[in-house]
Amino acid sequence: MTRSYEGKGSPEHWGELSEQWQTCKEGMYQSPINISHPVSANLPPLDFNFHTNVKSIVNNGHTIQITVHDEDDFLLDGQIWNLKQFHFHSPSENHINGQRFPLELHFFHANSQGELAVLAVMLTPGKTNPALDILLDVLPTTVHQEQALQQDMMLEKRFPQDKHYYRFSGSLTTPPCTEGFICLVMKRPVEASHAQLARFARALRNANNRPLQPLHGRQITE
Ligand SMILES: [Zn+2]
Repeated sequence: MTRSYEGKGSPEHWGELSEQWQTCKEGMYQSPINISHPVSANLPPLDFNFHTNVKSIVNNGHTIQITVHDEDDFLLDGQIWNLKQFHFHSPSENHINGQRFPLELHFFHANSQGELAVLAVMLTPGKTNPALDILLDVLPTTVHQEQALQQDMMLEKRFPQDKHYYRFSGSLTTPPCTEGFICLVMKRPVEASHAQLARFARALRNANNRPLQPLHGRQITE
């Protein structure tokens, strides 16, 4: 049985599909979540540095993943977190105050100890975002064909000007659902036109969002 987002391999069965995937059903710090009632911790705006010099892009059958050269980072808790790859979920996995968005970008970062932090950015229908076209133009049309790229996407332009975020402890949203992730979700979404959002959804082919998971008393800070 292979994992999927519908049918017998769907998210509610992930924990039973493999011994190694039990955290998917037994974990207490699972992602995604509905972000509401955050506690104020005066988190400063995130100071990041994103050229997103892209190395390769692939539709791996679950998402479209873009691997970048190791040169983008941000500082958090006094440590440097390096961007490794980013990918998409359509519709969004996390919700903000009960609101789901058409698209969520996940930027995976690691520190020198190999700990992981995921930075999520929501996309919302609005004005056409010319910066997104660079990305849309290279989206793969076939599955499992990794395509080498050499492109500076300057993704920073796609980030909201307001760099405040929510923070909580979460997990991978795909098996093995490993916990211990720092999850950061930018408060402000990025606008994209309906046509642009539709192109992302078409490239992904199917919805690839894991359903919301219980908070189990976790605190969300802002
Ligand atoms: Zn993801």
